[in-house]
Amino acid sequence: MFHKLIYNKNMAGKDYYSILGVNRNASEREIKQAYRKLARKYHPDVNPGDKSAEAKFKEINEAYEVISDKENRRKYDQFGDQWQYADQFAQARQQQTPFGDFSQAGGTGRFHFEEVDLSSLFGDLFGGRSRSRRVRPRRGQDIEHPVEVTLEEAYHGTKRTISLQTEEPCSGCGGTGRIQNLPCSVCRGLGVVSAMKRLEVKIPPGVKDGSRVRIAGKGGPGYAGGASGNLYLVVSVKPHRLFERRGDDLYVDVSVPLMVAVLGGEVQVPTLKGRVALKISPETQNGRSFRLAGQGMPHLGNSSYGNLMAKVKVLLPTNLSPQEKELFKQLKELRPNGKL
Ligand SMILES: [Zn+2]
Repeated sequence: MFHKLIYNKNMAGKDYYSILGVNRNASEREIKQAYRKLARKYHPDVNPGDKSAEAKFKEINEAYEVISDKENRRKYDQFGDQWQYADQFAQARQQQTPFGDFSQAGGTGRFHFEEVDLSSLFGDLFGGRSRSRRVRPRRGQDIEHPVEVTLEEAYHGTKRTISLQTEEPCSGCGGTGRIQNLPCSVCRGLGVVSAMKRLEVKIPPGVKDGSRVRIAGKGGPGYAGGASGNLYLVVSVKPHRLFERRGDDLYVDVSVPLMVAVLGGEVQVPTLKGRVALKISPETQNGRSFRLAGQGMPHLGNSSYGNLMAKVKVLLPTNLSPQEKELFKQLKELRPNGKL
């Protein structure tokens, strides 16, 4: 691998001492105490999902790793944020290698040089050390994504292709955020880069409005070898023009012609699998409910079903012919108290 980083004198330097909130002659103990206090405050476990706390936590760790090491601290005190090149500077000065401008800027410890092949320069020096760095594995973020389905789709189960704005491990540094112990220039040391991901997801039969469908391992990538987070599909189910859903039971109105309600007969009831015949007993009252077992929604996660409640809505006749009117009059005379 061949990595080129371009450094120049305008590059903003970090002051590790002020990051840790200690002064430059702080003792090892003071530095450790300051670090522990800040690390507790900004730890990702205490601030889930807080990006600025996460960045701060990384910064604190970076500062501590340098300042807590006697040799690194000495170099840092001398060379500032270019401390990692201290040995190279010394070496290059001895060998008079064409390293660019080496003038030390009046005691600030700032060097600048351009276009350095870091892999050949620092591979041996820093390569062996990177393994001892304590980069803690961390689980990736969980991601939520809304999905709207029809009741029919909720009944049968369905698929969706969704696009997610997510992160993926940085290919420049393999997700470690570091190349030869230096912050990776591709991901700026974060170990991840943002990416658009298209994913085909399955929505199981029986989902409800508000269901969270877990797609394991399809959330954000883990950090430094940590497991990926999960993707949660947050389902909303559109209202249906015929069926009302309560839990896994469905409710539907069934029109029953007057003559069928009075004399008995058969009507067709809509279900999500098609129409089924329902026997109507004589003198069935308006508003009566018939329970059609197993014709409701599937239970999420198993093979059983809810029920369908079919509510009778008696249809009264319109546009009566003179003859039909006459027959109703005769019925009325048979029930003079009006109860028909
Ligand atoms: Zn990277």
